[in-house]
Amino acid sequence: MRPPILHCSTHRADPLEPDALDAIQIWAVRNAKHLVYHFLMAIVVENVRPWGGAPADILINGDQITGVVPAGTGSAAERIDGRGLLALPGLVNTHAHIDKSWWGMPWVPYGGEATTQGRIAHERAEREKYGIPSADATTGVLREFLRLGTTRVRTHVDVDLGVGLRGIEAVRDAAARLGGAVQVEIVAFPQDGVMRRPGVLELLDEAVAAGASHIGGLDPAAIDRDPLGQLDGLFRIAAERDCGIDIHLHDGGTLGRFEYELIAERTREYAREGRVNVSHGFALSGIPLDLVDELAEIGISWTTVAPVRSAPLPLDRIRENGLRIGLGTDGIRDLWSPYGDGDILGVANTFAQLHGLRRDDDLRYAVELATSRAAGFIGADAHDIVAGARADVVLLDAQNAQDALMRSPRRELVIAGGEVVVTGGEVLV
Ligand SMILES: [Zn+2]
Repeated sequence: MRPPILHCSTHRADPLEPDALDAIQIWAVRNAKHLVYHFLMAIVVENVRPWGGAPADILINGDQITGVVPAGTGSAAERIDGRGLLALPGLVNTHAHIDKSWWGMPWVPYGGEATTQGRIAHERAEREKYGIPSADATTGVLREFLRLGTTRVRTHVDVDLGVGLRGIEAVRDAAARLGGAVQVEIVAFPQDGVMRRPGVLELLDEAVAAGASHIGGLDPAAIDRDPLGQLDGLFRIAAERDCGIDIHLHDGGTLGRFEYELIAERTREYAREGRVNVSHGFALSGIPLDLVDELAEIGISWTTVAPVRSAPLPLDRIRENGLRIGLGTDGIRDLWSPYGDGDILGVANTFAQLHGLRRDDDLRYAVELATSRAAGFIGADAHDIVAGARADVVLLDAQNAQDALMRSPRRELVIAGGEVVVTGGEVLV
């Protein structure tokens, strides 16, 4: 934000017009935080290699990157020695469940029936025993994400008749405790079903009024056994509240394809182009390519945790038609599964293996999915080491992005929103 432009000369004798002074005062009060940053928080991260390229200095002012210049040419009040390390943009987790983890607690043995419905019932029966949801546990998850270089997260947060909106409050509380270092976008997620639980649609509506940017859904056929009812209900709220939809689909084969068709129809009908995401959506690997093209055309995106036993996507077609893909951890250490360490670079590695990626530009593409290409999932115009982007930078001891993808080395330094939040693998917030 810039101050109002004043036209005056050094020889001017007249005082500034009262209107102009008012304008300065109003601007200064509204932008006090930015002024403080402007004068006190200019930093330069010297001698790093963005994406493994030529040595450069990254200029940061407040929470923004203001420039990337050849190494040795940048200056600012505060200097950080980048030691020639690889610099990547902050990692982006586009599909997490930070409200339901037992991360940081004593080990919890896996139990319950190993089906989607079995996991839902098991979680509802057991979560209270472990104090889930809580701001403390969620803070622990976010700190671990940060330690691993993740600075932005889209998280699904359970909203159901038992927990109401308490999970959303816990997530917001946790994000605030870290001073906004991790930017958190909330999807109100009806894990326990929608149509089969009267009252949940109203809860979703309340969640959006309370600040959720998206509403979720879950297997409208398999869980609710009412695909039209659930989808119409979700799209109606999304259109009325002008929010996005991010729906979990586990169904494969013909049923999965049918659900994709229903979602595409409603995306057009309710003018939600560019605002709908399908999570997991395993059927995408087997649906006709013209339907994949249609999804891309109306801006339906797709997020995955790249599960080891899932089928690969038609990736060449997707890179051609521009369908947006995001990578996520899904839940880590929760009542659904003991797996997951929160490292998005690890998910990118699994994604690369699943799709047989080996060439340098393909491996870099996998790292871009985990960083710069995820901008659209977190409401950012740009998320990269470029002027104008939020100052989220991760330094790693690696030759280039491809090397980092193969080894997932320690995050030596993490800057989030212009502040150093991790050094030498230790979280400072
Ligand atoms: Zn999920």
